[in-house]
Amino acid sequence: MQEKERVQKIIELMKQEYPDAGTRLHFSNSLELLVAVVLSAQSTDEQVNKVTPELFSRFNSAQELAAMDIEELEDLIRGVGLYKNKARHIKGLAQKIAVNYAGKVPGTFDELLTLPGVGRKSANVMLSVGFDQPGLGVDTHVKRVTRRLGITSGKNSTQIEKDLKQLIPVSLWSKSHHLFIAHGRAICQARKPRCGDCILAALCHRCEV
Ligand code: SF4
Repeated sequence: MQEKERVQKIIELMKQEYPDAGTRLHFSNSLELLVAVVLSAQSTDEQVNKVTPELFSRFNSAQELAAMDIEELEDLIRGVGLYKNKARHIKGLAQKIAVNYAGKVPGTFDELLTLPGVGRKSANVMLSVGFDQPGLGVDTHVKRVTRRLGITSGKNSTQIEKDLKQLIPVSLWSKSHHLFIAHGRAICQARKPRCGDCILAALCHRCEV
């Protein structure tokens, strides 16, 4: 079987298994999504969703967020990991959006990458979830699952992203990001993959059965 065909079969099976795969972050506009995505680094979506209702109630614009006192911001996001760094990033990105982008979250990959705290994964998520454009972010789940499946042998997220984007049709980039995450959470877990329960086992290089 050709590699592209194998990957498409994997995606097809996951689509059937996880029909509702998508972001679990709560937000109501692109600025809130951006803040939630920055908060989600090395934290669970559940932890993020606990702190964002109160945080989002404190600002209505990038200008208001930029003007927020850093200690107040830290207090509001204390429930997520690395909150001090994230508070600085959030204040910094709000300032940049207010000054450089007239208060609107920019919608291109390169512009998103100029914002504090926004790396390739976050920029890809913003494109796909926030702007309905193709994006394939590589987080810890995507990295682990795709390496185990043998879709990539890339050691870092940038290489993995490149490999995946070559093998997966553009129209499936966004969906496959969510599907790999769903599969990583449910079955192909970090400490002990549940290969015996896995719908992809026959297609998996780590665990062909
Ligand atoms: S067969 Fe095992 S290693 Fe391969 S994707 Fe499934 S759970 Fe992960």
